[in-house]
Amino acid sequence: MISIRHLNKTYHFKTGDVHALRDVSLEIQQGEIFGVVGYSGAGKSTMVRCINLLERPNSGYVSVDGNVLLQTETDEGKAQALKFISDRELNRVRKQIGMIFQHFNLLDRSTVYENIAYPLRYSGKSKAEIRARVLELLELVDLRDKINAYPSQLSGGQKQRVAIARALANNPKVLLSDEATSALDPEATEAVLELLKKLNRELGLTIVLITHEMSVIKSICDRVAVMEDGRVVEEGETYDIFVSPKTKVAKKFVDSISNFGHLEELIQRRSEILPEGENGKLLQLTFVRDSIGETMISHISKTFQISVDIMLADVELLPQGPLGKMVVAILGAEKAIGEAIDYMREKKIKVEVI
Ligand code: ADP
Repeated sequence: MISIRHLNKTYHFKTGDVHALRDVSLEIQQGEIFGVVGYSGAGKSTMVRCINLLERPNSGYVSVDGNVLLQTETDEGKAQALKFISDRELNRVRKQIGMIFQHFNLLDRSTVYENIAYPLRYSGKSKAEIRARVLELLELVDLRDKINAYPSQLSGGQKQRVAIARALANNPKVLLSDEATSALDPEATEAVLELLKKLNRELGLTIVLITHEMSVIKSICDRVAVMEDGRVVEEGETYDIFVSPKTKVAKKFVDSISNFGHLEELIQRRSEILPEGENGKLLQLTFVRDSIGETMISHISKTFQISVDIMLADVELLPQGPLGKMVVAILGAEKAIGEAIDYMREKKIKVEVI
């Protein structure tokens, strides 16, 4: 649905250049919720704004639903030229791409009705048709009773729902969400995420969502890209990134919402946990989907006559299934420990000696 290839964007300052995007490529499929996570300054916002050309990159290729917005052409003399879609075509394509922002960007002096009707003003629809569409959208975001309210009379979560209704006015195929829950409290965040999930499911809306919060990725994204310093450093199914993040930055994001942030501390205390003179190991165990933790621990300690102490444990409930992680200190005869590790691996538990 969205193809981004070799995208580069540099901002020039007197003090030097800032490379906001460095050779970014992503393929986003129709109907998926695709997350982009990264710390502030990673280039997420610049990337997402290149999808509707709110930002014009220096080179690369972007297409949305078969419409090429930008391509870099190399002529026979090997000179590169950047070719953008015409303004007229861009206006047409932009109707297919809704966008929501952290600070809602509503018109403060207009009512909820007027805010939602705003993008329909040149749509060729009659007044009655516009009214019918606005009412339908208000129903969709569950704000029918706020039709005549002004933004200042709404909570943050309600304002974002108005912004979502406005973004959907022209029936777009894609919704771009730029930190849409970052200014909201946890309850409103959950309500907005639930709404996005519903829109994805019921309207088949493709959603590209950027955030610095891994909890947002965890609750709704099918796939995720991790950005750092203008680059996509890791990409995959959300569940797989949670199971085995490969880069340091992805690991940090995964640990940020579990108590595995304490793993380093634990490793430093290793000599207390595994007394000298005794044979032991610290193991990190990962239980994917339905391999069960508790029974496995009691089973291996009995079967192999070893002592197993759980030092850290965490269960993530992802939409794609549960994921358990555990750090255990295991004490016993070397051979028995080896056999226990082999047994767990046979049972599809990921075992890492740390
Ligand atoms: P993120 O969304 O991950 O926080 P941004 O895309 O906003 O990252 O920013 C990436 C880099 O580009 C940052 O160093 C930022 O300062 C710079 N940048 C972003 N937008 C502009 C702009 N309009 N003018 C100059 N520099 C910018």
